Amino acid sequence: MPKLKNNDLYFLPLGGAGEIGMNLNLYHYNGKWLMVDLGVSFERTLGMDVIMPDPSFIEERKKDLLGLVITHGHEDHIGAIPYIWHLLRCPIYATPFTAFLIRGKLREAGLLSQAQIIEIDPGDDVILGDFDVTFIPITHSIPEANALRISTPAGVIVHTGDWKLDTDPRIGAATDVDLLKSIGNEKPLALICDSTNIFSEGRSGSEGEVKDSLIELIKGQKKRVIVACFASNVARLQTCLEAAEETGRKIVLAGRSLWNMSDAAVHSGYFQSNKNFLKDAQFRNLDRHKVLLVCTGSQGESRAALSRIANGTHPKIKLEAGDTVIYSSREIPGNEAAIHQGQESLLDQGINVITDYDDMTHVSGHPNQDELKDMYDWVKPQILIPVHGERAHLREHMAFGLAHGIPRALAPRNGMLINLSIKGGPVAEGTVEHGRLAVDGTAIVHVKGEHIKNREKLASNGAIFITLVFNKKNNVLIPIDITIVGLPDIGQKGSLLSDLQYIVQEDVNTITSKKPKDDDYLQERLEQSVKKFINGILAKKPIVSIHIVRHS
Ligand SMILES: [Zn+2]
Ligand SMILES: [Zn+2]
Repeated sequence: MPKLKNNDLYFLPLGGAGEIGMNLNLYHYNGKWLMVDLGVSFERTLGMDVIMPDPSFIEERKKDLLGLVITHGHEDHIGAIPYIWHLLRCPIYATPFTAFLIRGKLREAGLLSQAQIIEIDPGDDVILGDFDVTFIPITHSIPEANALRISTPAGVIVHTGDWKLDTDPRIGAATDVDLLKSIGNEKPLALICDSTNIFSEGRSGSEGEVKDSLIELIKGQKKRVIVACFASNVARLQTCLEAAEETGRKIVLAGRSLWNMSDAAVHSGYFQSNKNFLKDAQFRNLDRHKVLLVCTGSQGESRAALSRIANGTHPKIKLEAGDTVIYSSREIPGNEAAIHQGQESLLDQGINVITDYDDMTHVSGHPNQDELKDMYDWVKPQILIPVHGERAHLREHMAFGLAHGIPRALAPRNGMLINLSIKGGPVAEGTVEHGRLAVDGTAIVHVKGEHIKNREKLASNGAIFITLVFNKKNNVLIPIDITIVGLPDIGQKGSLLSDLQYIVQEDVNTITSKKPKDDDYLQERLEQSVKKFINGILAKKPIVSIHIVRHS
């Protein structure tokens, strides 16, 4: 761990620098830390449901952690709170809509009564030690997204969080451009900025355009209409409400997260009430031309409503030929196969499918290149630190910023301790402990832990379990108990099992004739010989586990 200079301002990402997801950012000044966001990854792997950043570095310094400031309520910014907050136990600062979502998560984890959640209204600020943090309203695909102005004696930072520019966002405040411009007059030190859409030219488009287009599309349908979108996109839900009203349809919600979000929207005053939304049980009572169903599952998630509707296993909702499903979302990279499988299944049943490739059904919540240029012009930072992107996004964003007037830039990596105060900097002064944790069933584990490595090996190479039982005379009982898991049944003389029976028996006799009762030796030699045999015949390296039982 490099020594931190008290009068210098540092930025340290533990997640979100090199991936889109699991954001965890730290700032350090004068011996104290400020944390911004604590999210999960969108990835899922090897049976692990939730992947998130390893907070060990800040956990070891939690007495110097002033608080956790949350930019907005998306999962990649708040999703790890119920799993990690109890390790840190710092106060949480968020605007009311986001605070409502965080409370729901902590309640479910049984931690709500222990946590201190302080609501900050958009536009207000909070002073945490030497850090003065202002919540700047900014547009994104969820209400109450905020950029942060973080002012310290060593300089001012603008941490954008996720953002875009939209003059007609439908719900919530538009970006506070005047406030951003006024920060530009303070000569801020650095802009820590969203890189998600750095490869997209022009502008990301407006929610208002999606509204007009969706209403036209729904007007053109004679049978049932289903709109699949991200639950957190409350503006899209509002658009669906307006479209339902204009086309004389009733709106039905399917998916628990949609209800959670509409509760949060009612709580924060974005919706007057939930009474315009019907439960999925009422779906079957509505005439086909009188229903607009809004559901989750636009990414092909197997347990979400749309997937169950597509494969006919949803208990309350059945579609028929002639109905129409509108995907009001984009395909997140990695989900394409699952999404297309669902779409194929709908098409096979004669159901129409409309996606954002066919029509204007979605706009991104992140800034395209022209929006980024606007941000640079308003804020006028000395330094650009691109975040919220894969390595390629961060490098491209760094080059883009340098080409558009920002004097200096650095593409960070998770764990990189960056000194923003050094003249001519930023300078990476070292790397601290970082990594990934995962929720694996009920346990929280290191993604690189031994048991996960074994699971990976098991998934790609299978396993062989052999139990040897010796009688009192030191003879092995025949047949030897062998279980083969996840390997093809191909052998030299018939089946893999009979080959193994033969080889193991021969080997046991040879090995025990040299060292009759040395079980460790037998285990080791037998394991090597089975591995060698399988590698020779199948070119696979399975897990081989030998158990020896002796009757005394
Ligand atoms: Zn977001
Ligand atoms: Zn995000």
